[in-house]
Amino acid sequence: MTDKRFIATPSRTKEILQKYHFTFKKSLGQNFLVDANILVNVMKKAGIDKKCGAIEIGPGIGALTEQLAIHADQVVAFEIDQRLLPILKDTLQDYENVHIIHEDILKADIQSVMGDHFHPGQPVHVVANLPYYITTPILMKLLQQHLPITSLTVMMQKEVADRMAAEPNSKSYGSLSIAVQYYTTAKVLANVPKTVFMPQPNVDSSILQLTMRETSPVMVNDETYFFQFVQACFAQRRKTLRNNLISFFKQRMPKEKVEEVLQQSGIDGGRRGESLHMEEFASLANTFWKKEQQIV
Ligand code: SAM
Repeated sequence: MTDKRFIATPSRTKEILQKYHFTFKKSLGQNFLVDANILVNVMKKAGIDKKCGAIEIGPGIGALTEQLAIHADQVVAFEIDQRLLPILKDTLQDYENVHIIHEDILKADIQSVMGDHFHPGQPVHVVANLPYYITTPILMKLLQQHLPITSLTVMMQKEVADRMAAEPNSKSYGSLSIAVQYYTTAKVLANVPKTVFMPQPNVDSSILQLTMRETSPVMVNDETYFFQFVQACFAQRRKTLRNNLISFFKQRMPKEKVEEVLQQSGIDGGRRGESLHMEEFASLANTFWKKEQQIV
């Protein structure tokens, strides 16, 4: 289904780049998709249809935006690079349902933009080929703001996708897995060859799907405390929980007390962070939190 009218073909992309004398900025993570089949596949997997709103981060010259415009109701796309605005105006001129927002996604008021362009209660999906240099800050912003989003289907560096979707006792499992899976269920849908990008990136890519959870999978007393605590448990992967926690609490709690709380929690301090499930992290963090509040 590579209709040659689509932007996402090598020849059409080259034509557009030449017409506007566009040069890629590596610093903005500009690797454009030139394979319409991949894009249509991503769209299907994202569950996009005419009832949905779509948010894109970094439309580039509009390869994915065009597909979203065809398949979704309204499309909102945040683009930081001013040089792309006249290009997008041209390439997407046939689509009235596309709204390009010239803003840094990390600074944008996404909630308010959503209110301006989507109907209340409308399912909204994020679909993007992310700028890889800020994948994690973008996703954490979208997740932590509790936006009314149903799912995120995004292309990113393979190594980061693997870390976000990792299960306990695997090499990729860490604080990022817990942070992402606290808000969503995460699944790597596919690995993508470098050849579908122009220019080709130096790293391998994957499509990750994050489906927002309706309720948190664990009860934590204090989310900020919980995430810092989990990070501390992975501070030195080879070290035991006991040793990582002794370092973390150095200024706040003597060693003996850390040991006492560990015993109270029933979790063996000789284990490593990578063996703990989210429920165990939550229970351990809550026990330490209560001790610090002096309520146990
Ligand atoms: N969606 C296009 C495609 O697939 O062909 C382009 C994807 S390219 C990997 C990333 C895009 O994100 C570029 O257009 C880049 O200018 C844009 N971008 C980079 N940093 C951004 C930021 N902080 N906010 C919004 N867009 C950004």
